[in-house]
Amino acid sequence: MKPLLGAVADDFTGATDLANMLARAGMRTVLALGKPAAGDPVPQAEAVVVALKSRTAPVTEAVDDSVASWRWLAAAGAEQCYFKYCSTFDSTHEGNIGPVAAALMDETVADFTVYCPAFPEAGRTIYQGHLFVFAQPLDESPLKDHPLTPMTDANLARWLSPQLGGAEVGLIGFPDVEAGAAAIQARMAALKAKGVRHAVVDALTDGHLAALGEACEGMPFVTAGSGLGLGLPGNFARAGRLVGGQADQLPEIAGETVLLSGSCSAATNAQVARWEADGRPTLRLDPIALAEGSFTAATAWEWMQAQNSPALVAATQPPEKVRETQAKLGTEQAADLVEATLSAIAIMARDAGVQRFIVAGGETSGAVTSALGVQRLSVGPQIAPGVPWCATLDAQPIALALKSGNFGAESFFADALETAP
Ligand code: ADP
Repeated sequence: MKPLLGAVADDFTGATDLANMLARAGMRTVLALGKPAAGDPVPQAEAVVVALKSRTAPVTEAVDDSVASWRWLAAAGAEQCYFKYCSTFDSTHEGNIGPVAAALMDETVADFTVYCPAFPEAGRTIYQGHLFVFAQPLDESPLKDHPLTPMTDANLARWLSPQLGGAEVGLIGFPDVEAGAAAIQARMAALKAKGVRHAVVDALTDGHLAALGEACEGMPFVTAGSGLGLGLPGNFARAGRLVGGQADQLPEIAGETVLLSGSCSAATNAQVARWEADGRPTLRLDPIALAEGSFTAATAWEWMQAQNSPALVAATQPPEKVRETQAKLGTEQAADLVEATLSAIAIMARDAGVQRFIVAGGETSGAVTSALGVQRLSVGPQIAPGVPWCATLDAQPIALALKSGNFGAESFFADALETAP
């Protein structure tokens, strides 16, 4: 099996989100964590999603890593390239969406591509080329204050064009998208005839994303949030090129489960509180005690082993407590300490035979997977939108549920346990 679709995602949880979408829509999907080396074998899958950390990296690094990842996929036979970015189009005037897209266009010899961060299920819609976050235009939403990529213009063409060196960015608007794939293709042809190579696409519903997916059949290069992942697999299915059946199944993975949380988002705080309130074993990890050495990863692991049911170790704290901790220890030091401790617990658990890990936090997931040496993950059933169960490709696979801060219902930890492979 060679990959048909090769995707390059600009961050870890975004990659998981897209992989989840593709697997649900019928493609056997593998996640590759980090930039692959040219000689690494490409996993057997219908879609491979490379998870980079390029969203806010220096432009040249983002371009180089993205191009290297695509070359690796193309060499294995991938036919269509998908550049995946955030549903809020996180970028600056310099990049990285425009420069990466331009470089991948060159690589794939594409004469035209689309831009569509829409994710209606999460309230991200595009109308007349303007991105909305629920009822607010992007530049009036909390994203206007993002510390690294403040989004101060909801007009995506106007935001993107400077990133493309001033290139014209066209619009495939609501009437065409509403009319379906043929109308979208006609509009693409009209733009191309005028020499336009880039177009933002309106999308207000999953139906619009499905139509766009259909219209993108055979295009060498597309860019989008995860939403387009809903529509593209159908093209390969209709051409009879997918194995078919249920694509998001994992092998059965028996054994103990460990839960680790290093996310301090509002959603994770509520999820940890709910788990604790349900009387489930919960250990609150205090970074200050860790810094003083009065509590260690080994102490936490001993406590975990003494529990009779799956137990959660959480550094999760509400914002005011986090600020207190950061003031005492320094922001980076506190984060490093928490990540190192949760990673050490994961290693002790793995060495003791634990085979299932539920991890909350994007950075935390990155730290834990890298400590466990995880590089490739087969994508399984969905726990919550954007969060699938995954499994390593080893002979004795480990199952992982990796949740970014804001994802999941309040019952997320119990939901993950219930759906474990
Ligand atoms: P999210 O996905 O919610 O953003 P991340 O894991 O990406 O979660 O980021 C949370 C960061 O905060 C991590 O680097 C983690 O180590 C750090 N952290 C976790 N708990 C605390 C705490 N109590 N005080 C300070 N920093 C913390």
